[in-house]
Amino acid sequence: MRIAMIGSGYVGLVSGACLADFGHEVVCIDKDPGKIAALNEGRMPIYEPGLDALVAENVRAKRLTFSTDLKPAVAQAQAVFIAVGTPSRRGDGFADLSYVYAAAREIAEALTGYTVVVTKSTVPVGTGDEVERIIREARPDIDVGVASNPEFLREGAAIDDFKRPDRIVIGAEDPRAVAVMQEVYRPLYLNAAPILLTGRRTAELTKYAANAFLATKITFINEIADLCEQVGANVQEVARGIGLDNRIGGKFLHAGPGYGGSCFPKDTLALVKTAQDYGTPVRIVETVVAVNDQRKRAMARKVIAACGGSVRGKRVALLGLTFKPNTDDMRDAPSLSIIAGLQDAGAQIVAYDPEGMEQARPLLQGVAYAEDAYACAEGADALVIVTEWNAFRALDLARLKGLMRAPVLVDLRNIYAPAETERHGFTYSGIGVA
Ligand code: NAD
Repeated sequence: MRIAMIGSGYVGLVSGACLADFGHEVVCIDKDPGKIAALNEGRMPIYEPGLDALVAENVRAKRLTFSTDLKPAVAQAQAVFIAVGTPSRRGDGFADLSYVYAAAREIAEALTGYTVVVTKSTVPVGTGDEVERIIREARPDIDVGVASNPEFLREGAAIDDFKRPDRIVIGAEDPRAVAVMQEVYRPLYLNAAPILLTGRRTAELTKYAANAFLATKITFINEIADLCEQVGANVQEVARGIGLDNRIGGKFLHAGPGYGGSCFPKDTLALVKTAQDYGTPVRIVETVVAVNDQRKRAMARKVIAACGGSVRGKRVALLGLTFKPNTDDMRDAPSLSIIAGLQDAGAQIVAYDPEGMEQARPLLQGVAYAEDAYACAEGADALVIVTEWNAFRALDLARLKGLMRAPVLVDLRNIYAPAETERHGFTYSGIGVA
């Protein structure tokens, strides 16, 4: 099957490479000539484990190509995926659909016969209707099917998530579109990945409901963690105690500095806006958004408290900048608010991240960058673990203590046992551990 993927970012590139790996012929399109040039030279524009090898293999097999020119790829495709960004709109927080609609208009111009246009981007309920209207209005001569196929992959484990999904959700009412989508995913179907066929609006809402639920779970355990600190309980044990209950499940119960990244913040906010527009506010999610927003800056206050109430003129070292490990994605990372809070209080910041520093630089002012974790800790008055990269899990504590000006460790991911760090002479603060 011939597939065009419009947008070659975290989702488009991974999806395109995986679909090519299934045996389809895929052209990944992007407006950004720098991205396409890099891909054509065999360089990955993003960091995602395993992606370079997967792309190289499928390029070699001639199943995967890259272009800035949407027209020929769409003209020949049976399925055209829209995987462009849907960031929060400035001002009101609703999803900015301008990239999706612009892509729909460009696709419409290029269609030559019956084609299924699939929104893989996370889009509010009703966006598929608008995409269909745009295309039909521009090309009344062409028959088109418009489907919704939200993507559930996680950055950092994206290839495995795409190839071994918990489920595939396909929202389409047109039987021809359903048949094309089943053909797209046939290789997974054979591996018994559950395919959920739903209405288009249901598929669109399913994605937001999933992200909002996960964000709620994280926010719930974060608030329990705060309570643990006040009452002298341990949130990791509470999380295990509830997570072993199958009805609850242990995932997404790790207390931390608040959720960030390119999806949860914008998607929870967009769901809140959609629900308000329809007169059925989702109050739990509204609260989750508010609680999480406050939490990130509260983490700066936690560091200040660990430093004895003031960080003015102090050197605070941050390990990890990305919103989670194994990605270079800095969008809405908690580190941004934490650093702003610390800088506002007069701290000097030095940071190290294994993959995120390049993307961090344009987003942060006045931050010094270190070559590794130990260089970062040198002369620091406090060391703050913000992202739980594996490289930070087994640091030489004796060496760290020797390098630092004051042995203050703030572990916002609970990756160290308090007693062990205290044995090495650190003053330790974790999340939800009294
Ligand atoms: P991204 O910003 O990494 O990639 C989007 C790409 O689309 C960019 O490279 C941009 O240049 C390109 N683009 C925009 N308009 C275009 C056009 N008209 N023609 C060609 N290219 C165009 O975004 P992303 O993280 O891949 O997210 C894409 C969508 O997938 C979003 O809706 C997001 O919510 C959703 N999603 C993301 C993830 C994730 O983990 N990143 C997971 C699931 C769903």
